[in-house]
Amino acid sequence: MLTYHIITIGCQMNYADSERLASRLEQNGYKKTADKYGADFLVVNTCGVRQSAENRIYGLIPKIKKENLRSKIILTGCLAERKDVKRRLKDYVDIWLPIGKIQSVFRSINEAENEKIKYNYLEIKPNYESKFSAFLPIGNGCDNFCSYCVVPYARGRETYRSAKAILAEANDLVKKGYKEIILIAQNVNSYKSGKTDFADLLKAINSIKGDFWIRFLTSHPKDMSKKLIKTMADSDKVCKQIYLPVQAGDDKILKAMNRKYTVKHYEQLIKTIRQAMPEISVTTDLIVGFPGETKKQFNNSLNLFKQVKFDMAYISEYSARPGTAAFKLPDDVSRQEKKNRKSRLDKILRQTALINNKKYLGKTVRVLAENQSKAGEWFGKTATGKDIRFLAGQLDLKAGDFVNVKVAGVREFCLAGVLN
Ligand code: SF4
Repeated sequence: MLTYHIITIGCQMNYADSERLASRLEQNGYKKTADKYGADFLVVNTCGVRQSAENRIYGLIPKIKKENLRSKIILTGCLAERKDVKRRLKDYVDIWLPIGKIQSVFRSINEAENEKIKYNYLEIKPNYESKFSAFLPIGNGCDNFCSYCVVPYARGRETYRSAKAILAEANDLVKKGYKEIILIAQNVNSYKSGKTDFADLLKAINSIKGDFWIRFLTSHPKDMSKKLIKTMADSDKVCKQIYLPVQAGDDKILKAMNRKYTVKHYEQLIKTIRQAMPEISVTTDLIVGFPGETKKQFNNSLNLFKQVKFDMAYISEYSARPGTAAFKLPDDVSRQEKKNRKSRLDKILRQTALINNKKYLGKTVRVLAENQSKAGEWFGKTATGKDIRFLAGQLDLKAGDFVNVKVAGVREFCLAGVLN
């Protein structure tokens, strides 16, 4: 029996794609192996969003090929269609598989030449890695063309699954006992299936009978509607957590990034969201050192962080991505300055996250238990997406159980408590 091993780099979307790819391989008799050096087929699901993610494959792939010459290496994900990557890895990669074509992996490896494949790869029934939490992709691709981003080139334009197919998968997950469904797409807010928009879809999933949570990512500030905010607030299973990337705190930089909203719009949006759901936690993405970003413009990002008081932020140093509009601009903020800007934002984030977490002290929160350390301590997540550690005492707990935990201590990015 032939074996496969999948290495996934990057975002949740890539992890969900790998689950579909694994399912396709297993349906055709391949067996998963934990040994990446011994597998007959090694699939590398790549990410090109940041240079650091891209760099990982340049060391990894040649190393694996040298260790195991008979292993076929399949490269999929963001980098599968980049000409410069193809040139650089031509001696090591056997099959270049664009992400939208993973359903035809067997045609690519010449094992099912006459297979007729007409469906969208997102309709492949996945092999979920977790037994209680599942990524449920509702679409793929992006139409927004932010000037720094490779996604529209790597994944193509937006396509969405039908509401019927998504609801069927959600129903199936709930029947199997899943406790957390995470809806994912590059921009969930622009979901459309006939007359069903994303708010309608959330409402429909929320009405499935059962005890489970719904999360979703990622939202685009220009597309987040009042209807969606109201639906979130009114839906008891929808977690009160929002991932709303701002990317910059300065209008000129936002324009150069082609984000199509202003700082004022973003701040107003956060205000409306917090008015509707006071307990909500807010996560963002921000890039420092975009081409031409002056100190004054960066100070506007600092002010935004102070103003909004994020719970979490993924702050990245700008790195020019081939093929994007911003690639042509001079990358003129030094590495040292980018690092410095990142650490200044990080400092504010730590302060605001701690202030936000202090509000949990003494409160009892519902937690989804995720895993236990060897020492017996449990780790889980609150509905607001906070990591929490706790002891379960004599309780016979298992991963995927909901429990009530009284919060006794807080840090910037973690709560601690005892079962209540
Ligand atoms: S919205 Fe912008 S940053 Fe997000 S995937 Fe689309 S192009 Fe990339």
